[in-house]
Amino acid sequence: MTLHADYDPDNIFAKILKGDMPSVKVFEDEVALAFMDVFPQAEGHTLVIPKQVAARNLLDMPTKKLGAYMERVQAVARAVEKALTPDGVVVTQFNGAPAGQTVFHLHFHVIPRWQDDRLRGHASGKMADIDALEALAQKIRPLVA
Ligand code: AMP
Repeated sequence: MTLHADYDPDNIFAKILKGDMPSVKVFEDEVALAFMDVFPQAEGHTLVIPKQVAARNLLDMPTKKLGAYMERVQAVARAVEKALTPDGVVVTQFNGAPAGQTVFHLHFHVIPRWQDDRLRGHASGKMADIDALEALAQKIRPLVA
């Protein structure tokens, strides 16, 4: 059901794209928007969402628009790595609620990982401090190329 359904234009990420909800942005152009996850699974957890598409997930994404979007995902992942020098970076994406998806506008997670640092829960726990997210975004923002 959540895998194949109509795109809800009022989902949280659509509201962020419209400017109806705040976000801590790290990158934006005509193809994609990247912002800090407010329930980070690790410090620097960033989300990259496509613009000008009504895609709930990767399966819905118009193939012709995928390449340009994935270039932005890679650019953000590289910037996160340069800014925070983690030991590894998870780049992941869920399709449908049973797969773990909770927001139904396509997004990739960019999650820095450090040796011996346990991954926090997905889309749960305490909301991050916005000033702390902004401080991280300030490190990442200038490095997105
Ligand atoms: P998924 O479960 O893969 O759909 O991921 C949705 C992600 O969005 C989760 O990691 C949430 O923590 C995150 N999230 C939910 N609401 C917001 C929001 N308003 N701003 C930033 N991140 C959010």
